[in-house]
Amino acid sequence: MSRRLIESAGLMPIHDKVMAGERLTYDDGLALYTHPNLNALGALANLVRERMNGNVTYYVRNQHINYTNVCNKGCKFCAFYAQKGGPDPYTMSIEEVQNRLRMHLDVPIKEVHMVAGINPKLPYSYYLDLLRAVKAIRPGVHIKAFTCVEIAEIWRQANKPLDEVFADLREAGLDSLPGGGIEILSDRVHMELFGRKLSGDQWMEISKAAAKAGLTQYATMLYGHIETVPERVEHLVKMRALQDETGHFVTFTPLSFHPEGTQLADLPHPTGDGDLRALAVSRLMLDNFQHIKTFWIMNTPQVSQLAQWYGADDLDGTIHEYEITYQDGDQGNKKQVLTRRQLIGLIEEAGRTPIERDSFYNQVHADDELDDPVRRSNPQSAAIPLAMAR
Ligand code: SF4
Repeated sequence: MSRRLIESAGLMPIHDKVMAGERLTYDDGLALYTHPNLNALGALANLVRERMNGNVTYYVRNQHINYTNVCNKGCKFCAFYAQKGGPDPYTMSIEEVQNRLRMHLDVPIKEVHMVAGINPKLPYSYYLDLLRAVKAIRPGVHIKAFTCVEIAEIWRQANKPLDEVFADLREAGLDSLPGGGIEILSDRVHMELFGRKLSGDQWMEISKAAAKAGLTQYATMLYGHIETVPERVEHLVKMRALQDETGHFVTFTPLSFHPEGTQLADLPHPTGDGDLRALAVSRLMLDNFQHIKTFWIMNTPQVSQLAQWYGADDLDGTIHEYEITYQDGDQGNKKQVLTRRQLIGLIEEAGRTPIERDSFYNQVHADDELDDPVRRSNPQSAAIPLAMAR
């Protein structure tokens, strides 16, 4: 069935390469990204997805903390940082961060994910204290924190060699770096949208230094703003080459751009076609990434459910609070949560097998339902409330 679909779409030459485990070229990537038949693309990506990860879809119980929205970078695509007419500035004290963690202590969270703006007033000690404070409240939790842009600022504050900075951060509790920070590896887009941040080359250098320090990292691509399709494919090819060199990336996540509240507010919103296409092409091009994630906060739970048949094998997690992207521009609403039961429902309804994971995709065997108010109040219901995408 899927072979007929792929054949009728004229994708057999790429199909044959995929089946032979041959690496796809930049031109293949371009042909896939611009192909009119999204379902054929999905069928092709699904062949790789099932070869690499079977019928399983992963999810994680995690908590996000965005410790400050004060930022001196002024990226045009960003609605998160404090600016006139935008969100009020905040910087969490160490105690506030600990209180956020205490709010969810009844949930067996495996990963705390911390990223934020670049607040030049924060001293080096703040970042080390932040990591120690998280481990004090949740010993054993995996801390995924600080994009390469934050690492550059932490390095500047530390005023010592980068390898020593990474050693300090690791000693204080840092386990891995998230993706993000570079958005898309294109000098043109960098200059137009986020010229005050690291260049692509600088981002790559910090990423390589993180790998050398023994840290794993998670890679992303922000798409749907002013970048072109060739720039997207170039980004994938460059990330694949970096992974060949370091092998330290665990997952790749394409992130759709949401224009609300940004300086690019007149650009169109993401579409289901665009999101599924980005996932499928990523799965096909990134043969050295084990996992492709659909981030439901940006793709919506509904599109993320379908994405399990378009290359994605990971739905991310419970999140709890997220202050960076708002589906409807409602910046007062920081609650963005899916319970474990809701994640399982999204996966099972799509015909996949849910597996709770830790940050390295080891299976977590959980028998609790403590994080699940829907399940507790009505055991029959795993329905997803309409508001959950907010
Ligand atoms: S994307 Fe990050 S670095 Fe850029 S303005 Fe927003 S918070 Fe600052």
